[in-house]
Amino acid sequence: MVFNICSDSFLFMKTHYINNMVLRFKRLLSDALYIDSDKLPDSLIHRALSDTVFLNTLIANRNNHAYIQDIIDKELCTIKKSPEPQYRLIIKGVKSLLRWAAFGFGRVSNSVYNKRIGYCKKCPDLGLAKGIAYTLSGASESFICNVCGCPVERKAILPTEQCPKLISETSRLTRWYDEPY
Ligand code: SF4
Repeated sequence: MVFNICSDSFLFMKTHYINNMVLRFKRLLSDALYIDSDKLPDSLIHRALSDTVFLNTLIANRNNHAYIQDIIDKELCTIKKSPEPQYRLIIKGVKSLLRWAAFGFGRVSNSVYNKRIGYCKKCPDLGLAKGIAYTLSGASESFICNVCGCPVERKAILPTEQCPKLISETSRLTRWYDEPY
């Protein structure tokens, strides 16, 4: 019986913590998108937490209000809702948004962006995007990084993103050459 009480309270605390983290994520995302958090559908929040590409797409287009509104409208009309995200994805999503917030949700300069894209174009791990995930995420790019699965043109815009591959096992530099890991 004692065990049950402990396990019930643990479950209660965990659920409470998770709900708070989801709420925090929702507030951060609403700040980032300049949209009242009440107007962000739960399915969009769940999807942003479960799908990094989708979250990247939202942040990269945060200043394009018509585009963001279109995604929200589509999300409101979607019959198939995204599943509730797992605990680790919630924590990861909140951390990502906090990192982006620290950079003011900005984007890198054009010269850094072009340099990153130039390196990706020569990379053996650059691949063609296939599959529905990228279409659903609203990303129009046809190239992805085969290591992390992100569309490279979205990834390269964000100051918090890193190339996931080191030049060599002994190097501290990634294939975005002058950027350390
Ligand atoms: S992000 Fe790095 S590993 Fe991925 S395609 Fe670009 S250069 Fe290659």
